[in-house]
Amino acid sequence: MGARQKFEIPEGWVARGFRFEVEATTAEQQELIHQHFGARRFAHNWALAQVRANLDARAVDPAVPALGWSLPALRKAWNQAKQQVAPWWRECSKEAYSSGIADLVAALHNWSDSKAGRRAGRRVGFPRFKARHRDRGRVRFTTGAMRLEPDRRHLTLPVIGRLRSKENTRRLQRLVATGRARILSMTLSEHGGRLFVSVATIVCHTPRTPAEPDARCGIDLGIGHEWAVIAHDDDTIQRVAHPAPWAQTHMKRCRVARQRSRRIVGSRGHRQVSAKLAALDRRAANLRTDQVHLLTTILARRYGTIVVEDLDIAAMGRAMGRRAFRRSVARAGIGKVRPTLAYKTAQEGGRLLLAERWFASSKTHHGCGGYLADLKLSQRAWACPACGTIVDRNANAARNLRDWTGPVADRDVQRGGVAAPVPCVGDHGGQAHASRGRARPWKTTLVVAGADDTRTKPRREARPGEEPRAGVPASSSHNCSLTW
Ligand SMILES: [Zn+2]
Repeated sequence: MGARQKFEIPEGWVARGFRFEVEATTAEQQELIHQHFGARRFAHNWALAQVRANLDARAVDPAVPALGWSLPALRKAWNQAKQQVAPWWRECSKEAYSSGIADLVAALHNWSDSKAGRRAGRRVGFPRFKARHRDRGRVRFTTGAMRLEPDRRHLTLPVIGRLRSKENTRRLQRLVATGRARILSMTLSEHGGRLFVSVATIVCHTPRTPAEPDARCGIDLGIGHEWAVIAHDDDTIQRVAHPAPWAQTHMKRCRVARQRSRRIVGSRGHRQVSAKLAALDRRAANLRTDQVHLLTTILARRYGTIVVEDLDIAAMGRAMGRRAFRRSVARAGIGKVRPTLAYKTAQEGGRLLLAERWFASSKTHHGCGGYLADLKLSQRAWACPACGTIVDRNANAARNLRDWTGPVADRDVQRGGVAAPVPCVGDHGGQAHASRGRARPWKTTLVVAGADDTRTKPRREARPGEEPRAGVPASSSHNCSLTW
């Protein structure tokens, strides 16, 4: 909303985000960064106070003129008032105030759209005043001296100056240097005591075709033992386990959480253990993100059509309540797969289909169409009531999805070339995972189980002559080893 929304992506370009973890080079710079976070918050709160006062005044006396909610109007009001309300304003970039006001404008529009029924999803409340402990520090720069340094190790922001990137910025730097990407804005933010710069860009889109444009695959995502089961076009079943270090992280987390429960809230010990806990959470989330990107990249580059279930992740979350950490992270990973696939398939020239939400992919026997009405969530294999075959639950569901021909839910998928939820790519700090040409150990990262599936390089092997597997023996369904 606001002024940023008016930007039109030119034909042939796509919006993409890149995120880099950065660190301040000096203590003064660190201070300056926090000053900017505070300045953004201050401007946000000031503008919100103006809007609220105006609304209150108009509620009493409708003759009071309405205060414009647009970014230029509020920014103008700020510029007139800043000398009075914030005599220190010169110490920070004007972009700090501007981004606070822009975010408020977006929040106000979200609220009014939601109230008027023009906005899907959950009801959006009226914007609230931000306090330091409730608001994540962030500031966005849309103009000024912002660039990636040619050494590929530094980023420069206006006023704040050079920040050291913890990762190589090569991928984006090269695109910018050759004119294939344009930087729209840079957002500096803090998450769990770490600093990140998100670079919003538009990238020149080169049309690509997947390796097997006519082939299809189906993915069944589970919360159980197996993280994902993929039915390939040649009818091999690939089972992807959870990343092994993730189980370890979970175990450690249990121990640390127990430790924390014994500490007094507010004590130094409590703070220390909390920091440890946050680090473990971060690790678990990173492991999951890595896996999501690895899987989606491999599949998007290979298949012309990918079919997934249209899961209602939000409802799943509600139904499960406050379950264990393991599940919640698994769920987060599942929620990420679909949007990630949506933009990657668009990028690679394939398409993503969402099988209708009420399609009983687990309960219908692939092949004969036999239907088992009362399938429990814990049942990993079931006997088909029509033909008596023992059916492996997840493999069967994946096959059903692959061969899905029914109605397709049209959500964020068919967006054509411009299917980029902007911050998504950046989950990896702009570093491509599984990038072409890099020696990426597919076979050790994606765990493949099943005796007759020796697939190690999914992209290149076509395997036309392979025998389709009829009924999956139940014995192989648990063969989801956690080797790494
Ligand atoms: Zn059957």
